[in-house]
Amino acid sequence: MSSILIKNGFVVTLNESNEMLEKGSVFIQDDKITEVGNFPDSKYQADRVIDAHGNIVMPGLINAHHHLYSTFARGFSPPGEPARNFQEILERLWWKLDLALDPDDVYYSALIAVMHAARAGCTTIIDHHASPACSEGSLDLIEKAFREVGLSGCLCYEVSDRNEKGEGIAENERFIRKCKEADDDQIAALFGLHALMTLSTPTLEKSADIAHQLGAGFHVHAAEAEVDVNVTFERYQRRLMDRFLDFGIPSPQSIFVHGIHFEAREMDLLKTTDSILVNNPESNMNNGLSVTPILEMLSRGVLVGIGTDGMSSHMISQARAMYLLQRTYRRDPRVAFGEAADILLNNNRKICERIFKEPRGRLAPGHLADVIIADYVPFTPLAADNFYGHLLFGLSFARVGTTVARGRVIVDNGHMVDIDEEKVRATCVERAKKLWAKIH
Ligand SMILES: [Zn+2]
Repeated sequence: MSSILIKNGFVVTLNESNEMLEKGSVFIQDDKITEVGNFPDSKYQADRVIDAHGNIVMPGLINAHHHLYSTFARGFSPPGEPARNFQEILERLWWKLDLALDPDDVYYSALIAVMHAARAGCTTIIDHHASPACSEGSLDLIEKAFREVGLSGCLCYEVSDRNEKGEGIAENERFIRKCKEADDDQIAALFGLHALMTLSTPTLEKSADIAHQLGAGFHVHAAEAEVDVNVTFERYQRRLMDRFLDFGIPSPQSIFVHGIHFEAREMDLLKTTDSILVNNPESNMNNGLSVTPILEMLSRGVLVGIGTDGMSSHMISQARAMYLLQRTYRRDPRVAFGEAADILLNNNRKICERIFKEPRGRLAPGHLADVIIADYVPFTPLAADNFYGHLLFGLSFARVGTTVARGRVIVDNGHMVDIDEEKVRATCVERAKKLWAKIH
């Protein structure tokens, strides 16, 4: 039993009535929040008392699509001519990098990225992993990194026929079974698929059979670039969502990532199947791709979330990129500001409600004790109706001083508490150097 009292904070609860509490307190018992309000410090004898000094106290953030394995690509330029399009980016960078990963690379690339997420105030990550030379057991290594840092994660392995037919099916099956048997909500699992353009009919049939038997949702890229749509149509005369439906893949627990080239009918199918769509604006811009019509999806009632797709582990900057991109795309300064913040703070929470058992994303009794304190004391009025302005213009640039994840202080004064950051960083430099040398 351990307890933490956070006091004297500007508490942004994001609870059902969206309460903001000046000089507010949060009391944590073990891994759950037990009270949020303006109660006297003397009410509890906490093991640890943290004075927030008027800074913003808010729920830990959620990343709905990440690729932790991509971490060692930072600063790396693939050999040869620069990629001219999406297919070439995959072939020249990502499919070479993921094939070169060994088990230690998988572990360390996840560890440093999860540490960065914690330091940026993110406490839950939904990851999509590929390491074709060492797929077996790879998700255990990522799980180890999550447990060492203390964050919650939902993991999957990217099944694809691009190296070997059905590669990764066994790893998904093994890991989903393991999570079910463990019955420990810190780590959850989905069945990972790359994208329809690299998946044959037998592989999809086998994957769907196993996932359905295990009651697992899917995590799959869709319509990220035209090539995915065109290859699927040429081979099978099916639009992407029709082909997904052929295998029973859409469901309330299934995450479709990107959806840039979905036509109106496919967006309707996302809604009628109650599936999840995750947008990753920085990644799409980085790859020179088109823009996901998220406002059209929202107006249809689709649950739209936001992820970083490996670009970074920082969520508020991603929401900022989302609204800026939508405004540029529509040439309209009135749109997408509230929607982007709402997607980050509310929709990502709703996605987690479908995947994890423990509620999170709100400072409310009974919720998972994922709480962050940002170094941000507002210098203009702050209330419930203008918090999004402070979020996207202020908190997006603020350091997170304290991160409490699952009731544990894991970041204190901006640094990891239980992890030797310098040692991990030095090991990552060495590993990345060796990894880059392997890629030709
Ligand atoms: Zn992705």
